[in-house]
Amino acid sequence: MTAESPSAQGPTAQGPAAQSPAGASSVFAVRSPATGQVVSEHPVHGAEEVAAAVARGRRAAAAWAGLGWSGRKQRLLAWKRSLARRMDELASLVAEETGKPVHDARAEVLLAVVHLDWAARNARRVLKVRRVPSGPLSAHQRALLGYRPLGVIGVIGPWNYPVYTPMGSIGYALAAGNAVVFKPSELTAGVGEFLAASFADAAPDCADLLQCVTGPGETGQALAAAGVDKVAFTGSPGTARKVAAVCAGSLTPLLAECGGKDAVLVDADADLGAAADAVVWGAMANAGQTCAGVERVYAVESVHEELCERIVRAARELAPGTQYGPMTLSGQLDVVDRHMKEALAGGARAPLGGPESVRPPYVHPVVLVDVPEDSPAMTEETFGPVVAVNRVRDLDEAVTRANASAYGLGAAVFSGSRARGLAVAQRLDSGAVAVNSVLGFAAVPSLPFGGTGESGYGRIHGEEGLRAFAVPRSVTVRRFAPYADLTSFATARERAERAVELGRRIHARI
Ligand code: NDP
Repeated sequence: MTAESPSAQGPTAQGPAAQSPAGASSVFAVRSPATGQVVSEHPVHGAEEVAAAVARGRRAAAAWAGLGWSGRKQRLLAWKRSLARRMDELASLVAEETGKPVHDARAEVLLAVVHLDWAARNARRVLKVRRVPSGPLSAHQRALLGYRPLGVIGVIGPWNYPVYTPMGSIGYALAAGNAVVFKPSELTAGVGEFLAASFADAAPDCADLLQCVTGPGETGQALAAAGVDKVAFTGSPGTARKVAAVCAGSLTPLLAECGGKDAVLVDADADLGAAADAVVWGAMANAGQTCAGVERVYAVESVHEELCERIVRAARELAPGTQYGPMTLSGQLDVVDRHMKEALAGGARAPLGGPESVRPPYVHPVVLVDVPEDSPAMTEETFGPVVAVNRVRDLDEAVTRANASAYGLGAAVFSGSRARGLAVAQRLDSGAVAVNSVLGFAAVPSLPFGGTGESGYGRIHGEEGLRAFAVPRSVTVRRFAPYADLTSFATARERAERAVELGRRIHARI
């Protein structure tokens, strides 16, 4: 970390390194994707430093457990207030490292804060020990269900939403009573250090509860292999497979939040102005580098042309560098270029932009129409400001096409009838659906978030997101001697058999 780096001036008087394991032998630089300038330098943490961080985290988790629900809530809310108060500072750092506009980064910080608030306030309600029905066979038992923390969670995060995305795991894991060792993307290492240091500032008696380890993919691999109790990974499906392979060696559970190829379905009676506005924002915001961003649109034939015109009109007005930033990962420019060229070679049209829209480090908005369904622009994650708008006979065909994807993260339906939109939503094979908006679910903390297929498995956010970082503990307490104790050799055989026969007869009828 250089003295001039923004994060070194940031979180604490001691600097972020206070919560970053020492002992690394080399450093790497984070560069601004917009200018190529070095923003900051960070240590490369190897297997030894990562293992030491996990060991410290384990001790910190024990102390965290001792604080109880209200002690943990109090500290998490103090951290939340601190992030809200320091929004500008954190947003500037996000903007510097990712290239996204500061106003987008501010909205990202707000979303993370909203989720942290919810996790802190709801952890006790969701995870505390509660009584559950014990059923007629076990009426003599009181049945209790509670959740205990897993221990130390290894969080591996991406660069596209370097606050919001990992905080969906970090905030919920801490609220569930765990310690966290966080490995941010090497492109956004300063943001990771800021988060750990700001937690240390807000909860000074919780040293090592949230630590940040920095470095390339190998540091993430070391974290997955370090004996953590669960890995919460967000990134591409390819890397998820590598992490899963490492986790398999030690049966370490894995939560994988991977990419998406989200579709928007537009009905004949939809408000086309609203649909076009949402499609353009969903596809182009953050330069299209959004896991649940809009990449495919299926519009019913009768409105396809008008919708395309509206989308093109709105997208044409966007100025890269103002409304959205550069491609954060320069290698993604080639992916975007290939998807467009293969789509056009396959017969698609481009009413806005085309391969010439790739002007490093920016990609100008691109709208493709009538793209072959087997083209990479329809099957692979493009992760750029490119949207494909195809026509369909009716919503049934739209559902079939939307569901044909290997991904299953998010989707949206625009319909003049909310009831019809909702009915279509129930038929979509994706983890979340927004009706008459895009990405509406991302800002609702009580809704779980995650996907199926290539989009991964497991859930962050909401009650499921808290339980993802906890282990159920089932307890029975015997209240009285039952008529026939089936767990005792002392019970007369005839009595036990009478009880079993009674149970059999009941279940054979009901
Ligand atoms: P990557 O898969 O390249 O990287 C994700 C994280 O894994 C980074 O911290 C990366 O480190 C690390 N990593 C790389 N190799 C390994 C390894 N062998 N073992 C362990 N960790 C490793 O994804 P991106 O950062 O490029 O993020 C973009 C992807 O994330 C997109 O596919 C996007 O859709 C998805 N995403 C999904 C979200 C969701 O909630 N479903 C939300 C946001 C993004 P480093 O960067 O230092 O190489």
